[in-house]
Amino acid sequence: MTKKTDRPIRGRKPLRPPTPIAVVGIIFTVLFTAMSIYLCRYAYVNRQTMMSNSYNNRQRILLEQNERGTIYSRDGDALAVSEVSEGGDEERYYPYGELFAHAVGYATKGKSGIEAMENYYLIRSDISLSEKARYADEGRKKNPGNSVTTTLSVPLQEVASKALAAYRGAIIVTDVRTGEILAMVSKPGFDPNHVDAEWNSLIADDEDAELLNRASQGLYPPGSTFKLVTALEYIREYPEDYGAYHYQCNGMFKAGEETIHCFHGESHGSLDFYGSFQKSCNSSFANIGMQMDRGDFGRTLTQLLFGSKLPVDFPASVSNAVMGPDAADGDVIQLSIGQGATAMSPLHLNMITQAIANDGVMVRPYLVKSVDSADGKTLVKEHAGEEIDRVMSEEEAAILQEMMVLVVNGGTGRRLSGLSYQAAGKTGSAEFDSGQKEESHAWFTGFAPAEDPAIAVTVIVERAGGGGEYAVPMAKRVFDCYFGVE
Ligand SMILES: [Zn+2]
Repeated sequence: MTKKTDRPIRGRKPLRPPTPIAVVGIIFTVLFTAMSIYLCRYAYVNRQTMMSNSYNNRQRILLEQNERGTIYSRDGDALAVSEVSEGGDEERYYPYGELFAHAVGYATKGKSGIEAMENYYLIRSDISLSEKARYADEGRKKNPGNSVTTTLSVPLQEVASKALAAYRGAIIVTDVRTGEILAMVSKPGFDPNHVDAEWNSLIADDEDAELLNRASQGLYPPGSTFKLVTALEYIREYPEDYGAYHYQCNGMFKAGEETIHCFHGESHGSLDFYGSFQKSCNSSFANIGMQMDRGDFGRTLTQLLFGSKLPVDFPASVSNAVMGPDAADGDVIQLSIGQGATAMSPLHLNMITQAIANDGVMVRPYLVKSVDSADGKTLVKEHAGEEIDRVMSEEEAAILQEMMVLVVNGGTGRRLSGLSYQAAGKTGSAEFDSGQKEESHAWFTGFAPAEDPAIAVTVIVERAGGGGEYAVPMAKRVFDCYFGVE
């Protein structure tokens, strides 16, 4: 053992306190280095944003050299093109008008949707030098900007838009294996060809909020569709016993200050766990909620991305569902049936549905498949499916899949039964107080085919009523189109 002394170690100078000037010098050096690193990092991380800043010189130069590129559907239909007049004036044209308004966006009065996300690429031109020379020879002033190929399908977007008809609401359709967004409709919409002329009415502070992409930015009480989450937590906490669950429904359940009722004042009688889900019994799910560990439930919510920014490239709202050890009983039963303060976006519900269909693995939803040079010779960037996380076990996902099939075959989703494909899903009728009276939003979220899931469809119809009557038939039209059913 060495003896501790105050003597300096041999061969080294004794430590002396640094002079104030040295201290200041050191602090400045550290600060300056940190600042330089921060600035470099900032410029790198935000290179697209900095490029897209309309005051940025570089952007001005690119716009003088290149025409804005074309945005295509997954099948090569042009969704946004730039038309150049003889005088060289460039005008953005959206051949489908209102149909892709929120997904593709607009490029005047600021930018939105894919026009904003991919601006950096659309105004650059990666065609070859020889091609540029050919353009110059032909007397053309500008080179064509890069092309963006999206994941969007024109037929699915059309059928989703027609299904939603004149209702306010949203429909989102994704490929469960890759996360590709095949359709994303929000209503009311707007015509991106006339954004300039209609700007003042578009930004008016009214309930229409046409510029809002309800599919990703709308926050709604999830109602009974949230029972997917409550059921997952119950299976997780009672993996051996959930099958033995039993409840006698008399139409209502009380806890704390709260009383909740089954939808339409129904009494469901004797129910097991599967029956509670199939019939969407609020009382039974409130009872289920009361039997769970509130801290564990809170952790499952966090894992499912409640309270987190969703990992997507376009604006999306943060869903709200909070549970913790100190939660009051009244809040627990409200959360268990997706009411109270619970709020989520259709996109988020679609992601959870897609994870169930995908045997427990959540994948990142995305809108852009690739960016190519206009001559098609250079692949500038490409996007493939990307896993976010395994959010539930394969066993948990399999049980939820089975329960969602029961909903379609003999429960609230039966308008999707008896078809050439087997769908699976969950309905919701989310109640809210409009100020004058109690109303409800109609929900459906589900996937098909149940045995080998391909697509997930999520529908919200504002103020329509029951999910089974309003949202399910809309989802059916989307599934029918995808599976080629006349
Ligand atoms: Zn009931």
